[in-house]
Amino acid sequence: MTDKFDVIVIGSGPAGYVAAIRAAQLGLNTACIEKWKDKEGKGVNGGTCLQVGCIPSKALLDTSYKYHEAKESLGSHGIGIKNIDINVPDMIARKDKVVKQMCGGIAGLFTANKVTSLYGTGKLLAGRKVQFVDHKGEEKILEAENVILASGSTPVNIPVAPIDGDVIVDSTGALEFHEIPERLGVIGAGVIGLELGSVWGRLGSKVVCLEAMDSFLAMMDQTIAKESKKILGKQGLDIRLSCRVTGSEVVEKKGKKEVVVTYTDQDGKEGKETFDKLIVCVGRRPFTDGLLAEDSGVKLDERGSIYVNDLCSTSAPGVWAIGDVVRGPMLAHKGSEEGVMVAERIAGQKPVVNYDIIPNVIYTHPEIAAVGKTEEQLKADGEEYNVGTFPFLAIGRAVAADEAEGMVKMIADAKTDRILGCHIVGPSAADLVQQVAIAMEFGSTAEDIGMTVFGHPTFSEAVKEAALAVGGHAIHMPNRKKRR
Ligand code: FAD
Ligand code: NAD
Repeated sequence: MTDKFDVIVIGSGPAGYVAAIRAAQLGLNTACIEKWKDKEGKGVNGGTCLQVGCIPSKALLDTSYKYHEAKESLGSHGIGIKNIDINVPDMIARKDKVVKQMCGGIAGLFTANKVTSLYGTGKLLAGRKVQFVDHKGEEKILEAENVILASGSTPVNIPVAPIDGDVIVDSTGALEFHEIPERLGVIGAGVIGLELGSVWGRLGSKVVCLEAMDSFLAMMDQTIAKESKKILGKQGLDIRLSCRVTGSEVVEKKGKKEVVVTYTDQDGKEGKETFDKLIVCVGRRPFTDGLLAEDSGVKLDERGSIYVNDLCSTSAPGVWAIGDVVRGPMLAHKGSEEGVMVAERIAGQKPVVNYDIIPNVIYTHPEIAAVGKTEEQLKADGEEYNVGTFPFLAIGRAVAADEAEGMVKMIADAKTDRILGCHIVGPSAADLVQQVAIAMEFGSTAEDIGMTVFGHPTFSEAVKEAALAVGGHAIHMPNRKKRR
């Protein structure tokens, strides 16, 4: 039996489900194939982002922050709370409820937009045919004018710390601890390490992050990275750079399992730490297992991503690929934008994704957020630029809220004053950086932001002041001379 569609999407993460909805909105007969099963064994849409990524991690970050705030920081406001308690199974159950609610939302959107939702596995064959095997094992060959591959990514494993799903876990396992590990090891002080390290650290774990690189958050602007490391260190995250993990052994002590991790530090000295749980979060890799028939015509690049051009066309005519499975940052919103672009291109429109303006946020407290180029990138490119920085310590709203750590750093072109990048660690950094992203999308200068009226008192005044500082005339801080 053959079923024909205008568009078949394989994968319903934020790249795939958005592509499917947009294609259906444009009048295309669209199907979306998803192989994920929920905890009850039912087919479910949403991908990594909804099941084991953005949403569950933020649910735990929010719960753990509320607990931490009640326990540690409300005292300075004169609020005393006695007998504060955290019930970990309840916290995990709330996270699961959030996930379920958001997944239900996608199912509703598929129905409303008339996307055919197919639960099972898709494999691209030659000639835009797709082999679909449902969860009962029944097979069908589907055909489409266009196929969009959105199969996402999966955690990278390292042989020195093999995941056992119990003591040594990946990010998915770290969302499911049912008690607070007393000693928590984290391999990789990247985005996941900092976010999930923060979750369990706030609840009481002693967290040690072993990072192979000699610089912290190497891809971030280093002014902000250094400031962030200081702040996170004060919170108790023990971040050790230049640490190469050489081995791990799970042992049993007094009837309880623990893991002994060995590593070499920056001086080449051997180190050893024992943890109750170990999270391995050293990056993710594109996921293409079982996705492509040998004669599908789709090529991979040297990193194992599906090879695409700027418009997300693969090497096979009528086959597109989007999201984590292709080049670029592995971020939900990047994949969603690609999904919209591809759906609209299939419908004959001509949109593009502006890859220069993709915000990036780490949801620690305070948040770390960035858009555009870092000072290090501009230096390496030989660009002329001006920098303005502004600390939250001089922002009334931040002081009033007891959230005055961190700063905004704005970078603008030395000749045209156009904003080239903005980097923030501080309260609501995720939302503040988005304001700058909008300005950048419209080609704004730092002066444009400086001339914009900002409400008072707001955290966002730090953005305006940093923009003013680019030109050497911030108001609420003595100005340094213009510098490169
Ligand atoms: P995925 O979300 O991985 O979805 C791919 C889907 O394809 C999956 O559901 C998979 O089951 C399905 N699939 C694969 N192969 C087949 C097949 N052959 N047949 C049928 N179905 C198939 N990003 C952010 O922007 N912000 C965040 O705060 C954030 N937090 C994160 C926290 C964690 C712990 C993790 C792990 C990731 C986080 N990310 C975050 C990254 C984000 O989750 C990914 O960038 C995003 O999910 C990628 O979307 P995608 O649609 O490309 O792939
Ligand atoms: P990451 O690339 O952010 O960090 C991995 C870290 O591990 C790096 O600092 C790297 O130097 C280090 N590392 C690599 N190999 C190592 C080794 N053998 N020993 C010690 N350290 C090692 O990757 P991640 O934290 O695993 O997250 C994966 C991806 O998921 C991210 O790249 C990001 O795109 C996405 N993500 C995004 C968010 C967000 O947007 N807030 C949150 C979580 C995940």
